[in-house]
Amino acid sequence: MYQLRLFAVRHSRAFEGFYNGFERIMVSLDPLFAKIGYNRIERPVAVMEKVIKGVLFDCKMCGQCVLSSTGMSCPMNCPKNLRNGPCGGVRPGGFCEVKPEMRCVWVEGWDGATRMKHGAERIRAVQPPVNRALEGSSSWLRASREKAAEGRTTGLSADPSKHALAKAFGRARRFEPAAAPVAVEPEAALSEQVVSERTARFKGGNPSGQTGTTQTGKDA
Ligand code: SF4
Repeated sequence: MYQLRLFAVRHSRAFEGFYNGFERIMVSLDPLFAKIGYNRIERPVAVMEKVIKGVLFDCKMCGQCVLSSTGMSCPMNCPKNLRNGPCGGVRPGGFCEVKPEMRCVWVEGWDGATRMKHGAERIRAVQPPVNRALEGSSSWLRASREKAAEGRTTGLSADPSKHALAKAFGRARRFEPAAAPVAVEPEAALSEQVVSERTARFKGGNPSGQTGTTQTGKDA
């Protein structure tokens, strides 16, 4: 497992891409999850998450995953459970002062972050202390549910290319209303005779016996 954890850090860029795609799929499944009930799927998804992330990252199921902000190195493997690091106890060669046989989780994290597209900025963001009440729950479900709710409240699609169009359309509707004001039809235009004459003209006939009438209603 430890070797796989190091492998994940070495390939943090690939995992970042995979996670982004996976998150998009999870967010798109939000209506289905909501229909089934998030409470119902929490347990099976959490078990699946524990198995997969346990193998790849030695995940401890803290319930608030920050892997994409820690270079794909799980901070819960730090013996001090630091969510921001490293501490001042890193030994020569980047080893942990508490577990001298293990490389510091945070030294690995900074290494992994430099390989990621947005890792260098993300690892600089200060993480809040871990909320122990969320332990054992699925981070995948929480993150995707929050993201879907965010999209709904802002009225934005999960597809960023549609946001610019939606914004531009909103502005256009404000300045150029699509519906023209309703004009009152003159009474004469509604009379039965006028209507039947117009209909006959468009059909090519001539109810009044006149000749040479075009489809536009003008005499030739
Ligand atoms: S940060 Fe939490 S959820 Fe993410 S891999 Fe570590 S223990 Fe698991």
